[in-house]
Amino acid sequence: MKNNYKKTIKNNIRPSWDEYFINIARETARRATCKKRQFGAVIVGDKRIVATGYNGSPAGLKHCIEEGCYEIDTHCVRTLHAEMNAILQVALQSQNLSSFTDLVIYIAGPGQPCLLCMKLIIGAGIKRIVCEKIYRPKEHWKEYEFIDKILGKAGVIMEEYGVNNKNKRIYER
Ligand SMILES: [Zn+2]
Ligand SMILES: [Zn+2]
Repeated sequence: MKNNYKKTIKNNIRPSWDEYFINIARETARRATCKKRQFGAVIVGDKRIVATGYNGSPAGLKHCIEEGCYEIDTHCVRTLHAEMNAILQVALQSQNLSSFTDLVIYIAGPGQPCLLCMKLIIGAGIKRIVCEKIYRPKEHWKEYEFIDKILGKAGVIMEEYGVNNKNKRIYER
């Protein structure tokens, strides 16, 4: 054990903060109950985990994995998104997000937050969004145009997390 620890330090493979939290978001995404949307989110305040969330039905309701997806216009509407569930956790646990100076949300999954989640993230006072992947299907360009506008106005930075932390890039708006 001791040797392994020394090796880890020597090879400098100790994860960065971003790597650490995005990996926890990835693990969280594995709990998602909708197979169409497997996302995980972790809210971090001053380098501490405040809440986690994954795609799932509101507490007490049946999940997609139990009853199948409920689709309207090809979208499954049964679940709350990972970001919503993480923010809901904060509310339910009566935690005060405004007491943190550095608020970040890490999102694992095949895309960026939707418009509704973006508005919740901004409203919660989160200033940095680290996405595993920023994917913007062309047909929703109007939505992305508005998202960019409100992110800029609110002073929120959205970044895509790279394979090595070095590949991380600031998303250009
Ligand atoms: Zn579903
Ligand atoms: Zn969403």
